[in-house]
Amino acid sequence: MSSLRFKAVEVASKRQPVEISLPAERPSNYFGKYVFNQEKMFRYLPRETYRLLRRAIEEGTPLSLAVADEVASGMKKWAMEMGVTHCTHWFQPLTEGTAEKHDAFVVHDGKGGMIEDFTGKQLVQQEPDASSFPSGGIRSTFEARGYSAWDPASPVFIIGDTLMIPTVFISYTGEALDYKAPLKKALAAVDKAATKVAKFFDENVSHVTANLGWEQEYFLVDEAFYHARPDLMLTGRTLMGHDSAKNQQMDDHYFGAIPERVAEFMKDLEIQALQLGIPCKTRHNEVAPNQFELAPIFEECNLAVDHNMLLMSLMRKVAKKHGFRMLLHEKPFAGVNGSGKHNNWSLTTNNGALLHSPGRTPEENLRFAVFIVETLRGVYRHNGLLKASIASASNAYRLGAHEAPPAIISAFVGKQIGDMLQKIAHSTTEQLFTLEGKHGMRLDIPQIPELMIDNTDRNRTSPFAFTGNRFEFRAVGSSANCASAMIVLNTAVAEALADFHERVSGRIEKGQTKTAALLDVLREDIKDIRPIIFEGNGYSDEWKTEAEKRGLDCEVSVPLMIDTYLHPQSIAMFERMGVMKKAELQARNDIKWETYQKRVQIESRVLGDLAMNHIIPVATRYQTQLTESVLRLQQAFNKDDAQRLGSYNIDLIEKINKHTTFIAQATNEMVEARKKANTIPTLREKAIAYHDTIAPYLESIRYHIDKLELIVEDSLWTLPKYREMLFIR
Ligand code: ADP
Ligand code: MG
Repeated sequence: MSSLRFKAVEVASKRQPVEISLPAERPSNYFGKYVFNQEKMFRYLPRETYRLLRRAIEEGTPLSLAVADEVASGMKKWAMEMGVTHCTHWFQPLTEGTAEKHDAFVVHDGKGGMIEDFTGKQLVQQEPDASSFPSGGIRSTFEARGYSAWDPASPVFIIGDTLMIPTVFISYTGEALDYKAPLKKALAAVDKAATKVAKFFDENVSHVTANLGWEQEYFLVDEAFYHARPDLMLTGRTLMGHDSAKNQQMDDHYFGAIPERVAEFMKDLEIQALQLGIPCKTRHNEVAPNQFELAPIFEECNLAVDHNMLLMSLMRKVAKKHGFRMLLHEKPFAGVNGSGKHNNWSLTTNNGALLHSPGRTPEENLRFAVFIVETLRGVYRHNGLLKASIASASNAYRLGAHEAPPAIISAFVGKQIGDMLQKIAHSTTEQLFTLEGKHGMRLDIPQIPELMIDNTDRNRTSPFAFTGNRFEFRAVGSSANCASAMIVLNTAVAEALADFHERVSGRIEKGQTKTAALLDVLREDIKDIRPIIFEGNGYSDEWKTEAEKRGLDCEVSVPLMIDTYLHPQSIAMFERMGVMKKAELQARNDIKWETYQKRVQIESRVLGDLAMNHIIPVATRYQTQLTESVLRLQQAFNKDDAQRLGSYNIDLIEKINKHTTFIAQATNEMVEARKKANTIPTLREKAIAYHDTIAPYLESIRYHIDKLELIVEDSLWTLPKYREMLFIR
């Protein structure tokens, strides 16, 4: 009965590293080998086309179809030299992943012949027959068609024999059906608003770019175990499994030596990622056994999002080659750390100023204070929405667990920045300034020492932490598309900056000097954002009580968190910033509720099956063995001795019976609860019912299964145990 488990142990324990030989060239030679990057654009495009394309990328100017034709022809030449035969529009539908539809590089001439071709039209726009992607009803109510449209800001690349073209996915009437379209709008909004504010300090600023540096955490398990655990295969996490006696208590995995098999996997992954232009930089073990991290250098946000999506699919593929399965789920194993994807975020001007970095002059430091405070203001005003942006059925298992930020968004700035803000808030303009020669006003904020950039006073428990020259949003889940969080963050900061600009300009128009106006508004805002700043231990229970007092969003139910997207102030923000309209938000919420409900439903079904097909039969078999032993004792000994000698086993029989009775009963109740919830007609209410009446069974049933795992004889147990799965040799 337990053969699959023991076969898996055998296969995994004999598995050898798949050795990878490094390419002969240096990484700088093969970096971007499969990307139509700037260098290739220059080489394959006519001079004028190259210029127009660069301008489109850098300034967002539209390209004519004639120019697109020239670009397509250059791309085709390069791609065919690389052995490419197909092309596809690559897009990010509202499922967690990417989609593609491959077309051959050929046109039939209608006379039985064919030629290789790839036109501007094919590059610019396609109509994938993608009617089963979630659209939240948008396409059925408005228009059935969905279009994918080329995003020149993210370079095309080659996978195997296919040219991949990053695209946005929109409906016939322009509603976004994906993550990329609203992300690009959010980035445009923050560019516009931040540029206006940055101009207060430097007239030459014409563009502001949002940067994103993600840190991807993941688990690896041996493929053999994966196949022996239906829960891992079907839900991405283990729905049961008792703690291994040793897991992460010794902290010996964190930054420890990377196991050889994993090291070969990482090498392979990195080479391929570099060839695709993903600028990988760090790799290390994480806290939990079998947990690892990969982080590239930060890039422009839209490109960074594409690179993360690309990396996730690359990781899956490369892991298989090495006999692993990659787990991107936020909490694949209970009792050890889960996986997140820290999103390091900052803004840079076109002339190179890092707006979240302290400067060298007092003016630069005032600008720094403004961007810090207005970022926090956006986060404060929309803290519930920011939480909704990272809420999912899987991330819910991680948030609030002992190692991850709680389901409350707060910000950490550290003592030095905190003191600086307080100093600005409590000073009068006269105190802050001393007149100094021709330069006019001088701001008497003590120069912020370079040292502050050091990460010494890091607070690992904060979901949104300032880390020297950027903010690190740590609540993002490991399996998520970063775009979801980045849409909200960039839009919220855009709104705060637009407000700031309006208020400062109003004061200047009324005759205040620019610096005084900036400082007055800044002071107002520093006082305003106080509730979002929290420097203490975010994992503590006191914080939950305190956060509630401060009026921060403390909702823990994912379906209710999602409601925040439709709060009047969220709709107002998205509409005013030109990112999404109410109908789009409604449609997207329907998809979120439905996705949540389906994921809980699948988990519940899988758990029910395993409980009835594996756990109860195995426990009953063991119980029968115990009963037989008791019977034998009764045959061999007198009544009293048999009683005495059999008492331990009788006790176990009772215990097993208690657990199996609970499991069988709760599984029945869970099925009934599902039947009832399935009759609910609206997606929101159905998701709520799944959260309130079905998800709790996952925990309670698991508890009893895990107890049984400790009692039942090891050789009877069919499912690989944590101690087997969690340690790669
Ligand atoms: P840690 O794990 O200590 O937080 P890592 O080096 O693993 O740090 O990852 C930090 C990430 O933050 C990297 O992707 C890095 O490129 C990125 N990063 C560094 N500076 C900035 C910045 N100014 N803006 C955005 N991202 C940044
Ligand atoms: Mg980090």
